[in-house]
Amino acid sequence: MRGRDLIRLWAVPILLAGIALAFDAADRRVPFSVLASGALDEVAHLVTGALGMLALACFIDAPRRYYVAGLIASVAIDLDHIPLYLGLGNPDQRPVTHSLTTVLVIVVAAALSPRHRAVLAGAATGLLIHFARDIAEGSPGVRMLWPLQNTAWTATSRWFLGMIIALTVVRLILATAGIPRTRIRLFQPPAPARSSSCPIVPAAPADRDPDPEAAEPDREGASETSCT
Ligand SMILES: [Zn+2]
Repeated sequence: MRGRDLIRLWAVPILLAGIALAFDAADRRVPFSVLASGALDEVAHLVTGALGMLALACFIDAPRRYYVAGLIASVAIDLDHIPLYLGLGNPDQRPVTHSLTTVLVIVVAAALSPRHRAVLAGAATGLLIHFARDIAEGSPGVRMLWPLQNTAWTATSRWFLGMIIALTVVRLILATAGIPRTRIRLFQPPAPARSSSCPIVPAAPADRDPDPEAAEPDREGASETSCT
């Protein structure tokens, strides 16, 4: 791997990690207001989601729409706070849509809808990353097991720091070392049967791996691809 590629490979995860930690730290220090806190919090959520997706992309080869849905879900779930800001619901707790129940509903929908499976799976992944950060924000926590349990899960800022470091290190080490050698191919159409009279047409680049660092020649039809 050339030095220039190596710098690019390291720059993005480290930049995302720095932004996540900086915005998280600012969010914890700025007195709460919907606009200021919301902006700081959502930027931290977005870059945390991006970092999580980069780490995940070392193991899976999914279409671009999977990653886009994950990034959108990693911030859009907070729209469920709007009723609270309008005076509806308990302001001392996050809405119950911040729970694994929402993830379960989306997973079931994905299982029932092959056509939208990649988007829904990406959304479920984005929600899990979002909830992990919300838990690390401390009180009021996240009622992950609602309605089975009403206990809010909380963790300290060290959890968030550890999470960011872990995602960054995983991405840097695996992408630099080129391991795992193969990635699990998800949500892709089955490979067409090879035939001398029917050449394989490569997939459109727009719906391939969104990870610019992991970009590689299209190999539609392969069951697994490399992490670079
Ligand atoms: Zn949230």
